Amino acid sequence: MNCFHHQEQASEFECSQCKQHYCNECRDHFFSEYCTVCSEEKTKLYLRSHHKAEQNKQLWRNGLGWYQIISGLIGAAMMIIVFLFSIKISSFLSAVILILLFGIFFGLYLLVAAAGYFILKDKRHGRKLTVWVQALQIPSFSILGLSYKFIAGLSVSLGLQLVPNLNMGLNFYILNQFNLSFSNGHHQLFLSINIVPILILYFLYKNRTEYR
Ligand SMILES: [Zn+2]
Ligand SMILES: [Zn+2]
Repeated sequence: MNCFHHQEQASEFECSQCKQHYCNECRDHFFSEYCTVCSEEKTKLYLRSHHKAEQNKQLWRNGLGWYQIISGLIGAAMMIIVFLFSIKISSFLSAVILILLFGIFFGLYLLVAAAGYFILKDKRHGRKLTVWVQALQIPSFSILGLSYKFIAGLSVSLGLQLVPNLNMGLNFYILNQFNLSFSNGHHQLFLSINIVPILILYFLYKNRTEYR
């Protein structure tokens, strides 16, 4: 059998892509199991898919970055507004507790915005910070008078209320929400899980393993 391109030359290998026989001159230098034509085709395809993956990564990075920056800044602004306009301080102790609570949530919202900024800049600690501030948004509960809720941005939550009456539900919010309180008058037992940060953490993990 002779080379597909050079009829005067004897064939020396079979291209594993097009299955034609070629002489060694038609063999690709780098991918020696392919002929030069098939190798070029393969390289083009690879570059195209690599480019597409890079674009998707960039899109995801921008989306997550801006989502956290916007929800974090809105949350921080919201804390200031609520603190300045709707808080009645009755005693020194309640003032201290309120300032502490508002300080904590104000700080958390700023951390969400910072995580978004670092994600945009593709900094390593952007991922770490995102894991922490998103994980804090997964649970919300009210147990023995202690209530906790922290949401920056979207929330789709599955809730289960046991006391005062059994209640199960799916809730959807677009607004930032926060709550950390203790009261001994209310008997409520409630637990809910926010799915949005779980999805964000899943994609964060998936993107890391794919591109490293
Ligand atoms: Zn070929
Ligand atoms: Zn040839």
